[in-house]
Amino acid sequence: MSGPSAAPSGAADDLPVSLAARPRDARRGLPIPPVNVHPDPRGGQRAHVDFTTINTSTSTQLAADRRCSLCGESMSYWVAFLGTPRAAELLRYTDPPGHPECMTPALTLCPHIALARHRRARADRPSAGVMPPGSHANKPDGWALGITRSYRSMFLPVHGFTVYVPAPFRTVHAYRYGPDGQLHPAPDIR
Ligand SMILES: [Zn+2]
Repeated sequence: MSGPSAAPSGAADDLPVSLAARPRDARRGLPIPPVNVHPDPRGGQRAHVDFTTINTSTSTQLAADRRCSLCGESMSYWVAFLGTPRAAELLRYTDPPGHPECMTPALTLCPHIALARHRRARADRPSAGVMPPGSHANKPDGWALGITRSYRSMFLPVHGFTVYVPAPFRTVHAYRYGPDGQLHPAPDIR
C-alpha cells in the first residue's frame, strides 16, 4: 500500500490545490465539494450546503464529464471510489468518483467517515439529496478506497439515481475503526 497518499494522515494543509481552492464551510473550514451544494430549498437564489447529502444532478454531470466530485476538476489517469468494503467487492457505488488525492483527505476531514461514533444531525433534510452509503444507522466497520482507470454510469429510473460501476480496481486501500473510534489504515484488500 503505502504511497504517501494512502494513509489518512492529512490535515487541511495536505489538501490538493484544487480541493484547497474550493469555497469553505464557515463552521469547520472544510472545502465544500460541488456535489454538496444544493438549490435553495425555499426556491430562492441562495445555494444551500449540506455535507450529508449529494446533489445528484451535479454529481451525474460531473461523472459524465469525468470530473472529480470533490473538487470539480478533470480526472486524468486514475479515478477513486470511496465506500464500504462491500461496495468495493460488488463494484457498485451510489457516490460519484473523485481524484484519489481528493478522496484520501475525505477519510480524515469528513467527520462522518473519520469517527466511528459520530452522529449526523437528524434535522430535516430540505435538499432531499441521496444519503451517501453508510450514512444510515448501520455504520460500516471500515471503508475502502478503490482505485481504477474507468467506470460506467447507469441511471436507474426506478430509483431516480445513478449507480457507478468501476472497472476492476487496481488497488483497494482499506481502513478500519480502531478501539479509539478513529479510522486507521488496514492491510489492503488488493
Ligand atoms: Zn479532485
